[in-house]
Amino acid sequence: MLLGSGELGKEFVIACQRLGQYIIAVDSYEGAPAMQVAHEFEVVNMLDGDALDRIVEKHQPDIIVPEIEAIRTERFYDYEAKGIQVVPSAKAANFTMNRKAIRDLAAKEVGVRTANYRYATSLEELQNGVEAVGIPCVVKPLMSSSGKGQSVIKSNEDIEKAWKYALEGSRGDLLEVIVEGFVDFDYEITLLTLTQQNGETLFCPPIGHRQERGDYQESWQPMSMNVEHLEEAKQMAADVTKALGGSGIWGVEFFITKEGAYFSELSPRPHDTGMVTLANTQNFSEFELHARAVLGIPVNEIKLERNGASAVVLASKENDSLPVFSGIEKAAIVPNTDFKLFGKPTTRPYRRMAVALAFGNENVEILVDKAKSVAALIDVD
Ligand code: AMP
Repeated sequence: MLLGSGELGKEFVIACQRLGQYIIAVDSYEGAPAMQVAHEFEVVNMLDGDALDRIVEKHQPDIIVPEIEAIRTERFYDYEAKGIQVVPSAKAANFTMNRKAIRDLAAKEVGVRTANYRYATSLEELQNGVEAVGIPCVVKPLMSSSGKGQSVIKSNEDIEKAWKYALEGSRGDLLEVIVEGFVDFDYEITLLTLTQQNGETLFCPPIGHRQERGDYQESWQPMSMNVEHLEEAKQMAADVTKALGGSGIWGVEFFITKEGAYFSELSPRPHDTGMVTLANTQNFSEFELHARAVLGIPVNEIKLERNGASAVVLASKENDSLPVFSGIEKAAIVPNTDFKLFGKPTTRPYRRMAVALAFGNENVEILVDKAKSVAALIDVD
């Protein structure tokens, strides 16, 4: 049972189908990408614990695979206790639903390097937090996605605005924020990490990415980086994933500075920047790796096969009828490129509708430009 049926879930379902699995895809709306390739689907609000209990009772899944954060994850502990495998583990899904649990685990329990941080439940606490971590700093709601409610404080005048903005962008009923020191990083990476029940923890070659409005715009693999910083990041990823437990692929995000790697956050599931692996940059895509780890099929080695880049195709307006793509014929004839259209039933500004891919032996800067040019040829209406 897949909880969350977006484009990442869709690729995961396809990977599972190729391993003969039976899938029930769940989301809050009908026609979601992963539902289109699953055997059955359910439409429920996954923040409603009773609704979750109902569909788990109805379908009796062997495995529950969360694809998003906005789920009543507390219920996962019960499912795990009943013998259902929760991916990667109930603890991992529950701790990463909220920035506080995962940050405290990483910084305090495991002891990896992170930006200095404080929490705040009021404007006054935020003012104290800003004083403690220093300006500039970044304010984020504890529960939010895609950079919603996130802003940078550059002077004391920004504090009140940041507080209001964070409250507007908070998801769920939790009105609390984290304020953390601004890390003046040289670049940021996603280190896809594979934990296995019957194999060692493996790492994909690092993925570089560029963010805008809290969402990734382009990603590339491999990110060429200082070997010591990479080793440091691998150790941190191994330690944090071990503390959370279970098998699967994890998107572990780091800021890389001159001093080394800062742990930022982690998703216990395929990561959007990892869509670059759909360009066959590796012997297995992140979705195939996740499927194997979830099913207990050992992976011996993750190999870079060729360089790759991905660039997102976004919608520009609100439209409730089926989107129409144009420019595909032109995009299709660019050598050594590809694209995936997600099949989302409606559009809204900035909604991710497709991804363009470029691959080859050129350096990744060239491939990023190529992926962007393919993305620019594709229009969604
Ligand atoms: P997040 O939602 O925490 O992944 O943040 C989204 C993006 O905002 C990150 O990928 C960074 O580009 C930027 N960002 C977040 N936190 C910080 C920070 N403490 N210092 C600098 N940039 C940050």
